[in-house]
Amino acid sequence: MSEYFNVSEIFGENVFNDAVMQERLPKKVYKKLREVIQEDRELDLETADVVAHEMKEWAIEKGATHYTHWFQPLTGFTAEKHDSFITAPMPNGKVLMSFSGKELIKGEPDASSFPSGGLRATFEARGYTAWDCTSPAFVRQDAAGATLCIPTAFCSYTGEALDQKTPLLRSMEAINKQSLRLIRLFGNTTSKRVTPSVGAEQEYFLVDHEKFLKRKDLIFTGRTLFGAMPPKGQELDDHYFGAIRERIAAYMRDVNKELWRLGVSAKTQHNEVAPAQHELAPIYAEVNIAVDHNQLVMETLKKVAGRHGLRCLLHEKPFAGVNGSGKHNNWSIITDDGINLLDPGKTPHENIQFLLVLTCILKAVDKHADLLRESAADAGNDHRLGANEAPPAIISIFLGEQLQDVMSQLISTGEATRSLKGEVLQTGVKSLPDFMKDATDRNRTSPFAFTGNKFEFRMVGSNDSIAAPNVILNVIVAEAFSDACDILESADDFEQAVHDLIKKQASDHQRIVFNGNGYSDEWIEEAERRGLPNIKNMVDAVPALTTEKAVALFEKFNVFTRAELESRGEILYENYAKALNIEARAMIDMAGKQIIPAIIKYTTVLANSINAVTSACDADVTTQKELLKEVSSLLAEAKAALVNLTETTEKASAMNEGRKQAICYRDEVKTAMEALRAPIDKLEMIVDKDIWPMPSYGDLIFEV
Ligand code: ADP
Ligand code: MG
Repeated sequence: MSEYFNVSEIFGENVFNDAVMQERLPKKVYKKLREVIQEDRELDLETADVVAHEMKEWAIEKGATHYTHWFQPLTGFTAEKHDSFITAPMPNGKVLMSFSGKELIKGEPDASSFPSGGLRATFEARGYTAWDCTSPAFVRQDAAGATLCIPTAFCSYTGEALDQKTPLLRSMEAINKQSLRLIRLFGNTTSKRVTPSVGAEQEYFLVDHEKFLKRKDLIFTGRTLFGAMPPKGQELDDHYFGAIRERIAAYMRDVNKELWRLGVSAKTQHNEVAPAQHELAPIYAEVNIAVDHNQLVMETLKKVAGRHGLRCLLHEKPFAGVNGSGKHNNWSIITDDGINLLDPGKTPHENIQFLLVLTCILKAVDKHADLLRESAADAGNDHRLGANEAPPAIISIFLGEQLQDVMSQLISTGEATRSLKGEVLQTGVKSLPDFMKDATDRNRTSPFAFTGNKFEFRMVGSNDSIAAPNVILNVIVAEAFSDACDILESADDFEQAVHDLIKKQASDHQRIVFNGNGYSDEWIEEAERRGLPNIKNMVDAVPALTTEKAVALFEKFNVFTRAELESRGEILYENYAKALNIEARAMIDMAGKQIIPAIIKYTTVLANSINAVTSACDADVTTQKELLKEVSSLLAEAKAALVNLTETTEKASAMNEGRKQAICYRDEVKTAMEALRAPIDKLEMIVDKDIWPMPSYGDLIFEV
């Protein structure tokens, strides 16, 4: 069954990338389009017409019959509406295939049912999709045929963002502008553009498709709502980086192939900590593309699984008791000529710029820890953060030993004159040391860790778009750069001013730095003493979006208006309530229709066998009776909990949408769900496996 292929031949073959554009577009048109892409020029309709035509011809060669504006509404997923290329039949009954510049640039999906958080009144239900030419179009080939997918932004009639991409593009502009200001101060006159680069490591679980179909909780919610731990969990760590079994390897190979054809540079794959858990990481790309690619990664992981008799679970916590899945967002800021502002560099001069950038990031993260936390908030992620498997819900920064030492010297004496590990010192320039990038120590418990030449934000949930966290990173760092430039641009003695500013920022924001064990209870206490926010769940995270501090930040950099922020808050509450409502209903359904009847059956079988034994002889049936008692009492507990969950869910779902409703789901429905799960998980350990109505954790995660 092995079909071998040459990666370099298939890589990007379904992407309308620069090479294809250069080859197929007339020189003048190509040049114009490049300008639009690189310099944010307006695209004129004439050029768009030519591009659209060539794009269509190219797509048809790949078998495409339809095109779609591919966009990312606030559901967390991508959305698309397909239109075929055909025109109205001609008098001879034939059709032509056409695609105009207008159709390429703008679409108008019937968008009234996408979340808008009140931004779009129903009488003005129109939403527009607009071509984002900075992310290349691609042809997706699958069972549905081939479709030309055009990455687009999604806005309301009045231009308000209804999606993930619009604010992302705005935040990229903000950080570009402020970074250019900053590097100009250090004498860089050549770089033209500064763009965040992102590599997102994606974790996921694979389970057998047949078993998946026997679990309504997995079908409806993506996670198990019942399930006792198997005798063996992940305690042996024998899965992590273990040899990849053939079935899984064949799946990964297929995933890689699909992704490579779409130009996604899938690079690393390995088994993760939990049984049945794996990871895929691409090579980093410009953030806008990285966001689109991560969506493609998630779609592809799910789609290909079906072909291998598998199901891919992207939920943050599919199984209680074993590790959940996250998405490490590796982030750096790189100029168009390849200079990474997060690279400590080799000369003192570069070191100073680096220290300024670094302390600006300390300031940004300290000031806006609540926003960063919010950007990773999600109903599924609530099960993970702070559960000793993922970073705590407290934002802090890990710098590593060497950088920490430099910081401490700066703070205590105002200068840093030595660098750990015996590096040669450069004392010539304002006493800042020359230090090399430190790649030695790693801290897996930190939510935001410096890893050599990038920061790794580890809070993001596996199922979430990485757009929101990157919007926040871009804009909070843009603000810190902007503040720094305001000071430095007007300084008489630049060197003195930059030295003072680095020292000030390092000391003002040292509380955000934490290099110890983020999973420990001591850290929670210590963080509280330091005044760092510990935002434990999504509902409590949402208000961060609309504080005066946040509104001022986003409005200053034109990333969100107050109205857009308020609407996003509303959508988040709604999403949370909906997610919990589905979970509660799935539990009610499973408990009422499957689990409780099975237990009753078991008690009947048990009671009958007690009678049978007693009537056959006078054997001791105390054990059977005790078992029957125990099961019956847990059954009664489960039944009462089911009644309570049903009532509580009805009450919550009857409430008006908004914060109060979300709180009711969090405090009342979730508690009622836990109360139902507890007796049922105990019963699973007692009741005959043949009678239990669904595959167990052991079946699901050890027998893939
Ligand atoms: P790990 O953290 O698992 O050891 P790596 O650090 O090698 O793995 O890389 C993880 C991800 O970080 C990859 O997607 C990689 O491409 C990305 N990455 C590496 N360098 C950068 C950078 N400068 N900016 C953004 N992402 C980067
Ligand atoms: Mg990593």
